[in-house]
Amino acid sequence: MPDTFDSTAEGFNRPRINMDETWKIALEQIQLHVSPQNFIAWFKNTTLSRIENGIATIECPNAFAKEWLDSNHSKLLTTILRTITKQPLDIVFAIASDNARSAPAEAESFDRYQEMTLSPEDAPIFNIPFTHQNLVEEAQAKASLNRSYLFETFVVGPSNRIAHAAAEAVAENLGRSYNPLFVHGGVGLGKTHLVQAIGNRVLNNDPNKKVLYVSSETFLNEMIESIRNSRTSEFRGNYRKLDMLIIDDIQFFSEWQRAQEELFHTYNTLFQAGKQIVFISDRPPKQIDNLMDRLRSRLEGGMVADISEPDYELRIAIVRQKAIDKGILLPDHILDFVARSFSDNIRELEGALIRIGTHVKISGIVPDESGVAKILKIDPASKRKKTSPRELIQEVCTQFNVSIRDVRGSRRTADFVMPRQVCMYLLRKELALPLEQIAKELNRSDHTTVLHAIERVEMRMEEDREFKSRVEGVKVG
Ligand code: ADP
Ligand code: MG
Repeated sequence: MPDTFDSTAEGFNRPRINMDETWKIALEQIQLHVSPQNFIAWFKNTTLSRIENGIATIECPNAFAKEWLDSNHSKLLTTILRTITKQPLDIVFAIASDNARSAPAEAESFDRYQEMTLSPEDAPIFNIPFTHQNLVEEAQAKASLNRSYLFETFVVGPSNRIAHAAAEAVAENLGRSYNPLFVHGGVGLGKTHLVQAIGNRVLNNDPNKKVLYVSSETFLNEMIESIRNSRTSEFRGNYRKLDMLIIDDIQFFSEWQRAQEELFHTYNTLFQAGKQIVFISDRPPKQIDNLMDRLRSRLEGGMVADISEPDYELRIAIVRQKAIDKGILLPDHILDFVARSFSDNIRELEGALIRIGTHVKISGIVPDESGVAKILKIDPASKRKKTSPRELIQEVCTQFNVSIRDVRGSRRTADFVMPRQVCMYLLRKELALPLEQIAKELNRSDHTTVLHAIERVEMRMEEDREFKSRVEGVKVG
């Protein structure tokens, strides 16, 4: 087993690092980021053998695992090890010198393990066909899916919880849980990511499934092309033999009657055969103009789930996850600044993080808040001008038609209790105030009341759509 080493050439200045302990912590972190199957298959028999001259060596049981970890997880591992050791180290993968560890303990991973157990001399033929992973990747490419859009990398919060649950249900029970699934929401809120995660999960479970993701434009272009070349039956055949069809940005169909007709028949064929259809749109079916009634009723006929704007807690969770995924190390206050500055588009939030990360990498300097604002070309004053707790309470009172005195008062009738709870909920979710302060703002004696209120509001938002949109309608920021 690896021993304690001095970590770098100037190791006497550094704390000594215990390899086993460090790796144990790292593995715990990794488990949060990969599926249990992947964890067992790829990480179980690895060790951190040494850290020397700023290089951490991770030993893998065989060449296959080494290649796979290197191409799929080196960034994640680097970030995690840097965070744990607080050192700017890089990592390399090596094949374990003693093979004693290579016998897999878990029965469930045994089959895959056999597929992938190669001797070190076999390393160049890493690209052997017919391993599960290879088949999955090939199927993902054929399906036009982005391999990084996974459930495992999708962070769940109140604004996307229902859509996420529906998507998982569809992935686990194709064609039989919600059909069609219709996901709608504003730009950059994760619709494509979530829905492609279904496709990726399905193919990971069974790479022989026929899945296809297309944009509305692609569908239309292929249709036109097939008409031009007199190959419409081929075009139809391609779509109608699928196990799952995902069509993105379906709102564009409003402009094309002929394509609607085609889509309607494709839908019917797939639906009758029990195949899964998933639609994405920037608005609900009712608000898509010029849609044939019979198509509209099909779109509405299954599960319609929306993704709304993320609250502060979800944004900060996403920023943290993306920072790890992309190997961008930034102090908490900057992550916090980014999460506060981009409230209505996660793509922008991600872009901002990357820009700051690049800046830090090139300049070697971690900027302060005004520096970050400059890099992002945003006005720190206007973006940072957060609603004050008082203003937020006032907004809630306006929305729910009560007076500030009543929400801060002691009367416990439902008319006052509910807006009071909404205040607590939003003070926490949007302004991220400490529980004690929230209690004080509302004249309550202790913070358990606040916790209870948050829970009540969350529950009610899940059950009652109208209530949810009223809460979301409170202007913040
Ligand atoms: P949309 O299709 O709604 O315009 P996308 O699915 O393209 O949005 O998402 C934009 C970016 O934000 C993507 O990089 C995606 O990975 C990321 N993203 C959105 N929501 C989440 C989430 N809940 N967790 C992690 N990443 C997310
Ligand atoms: Mg999209």
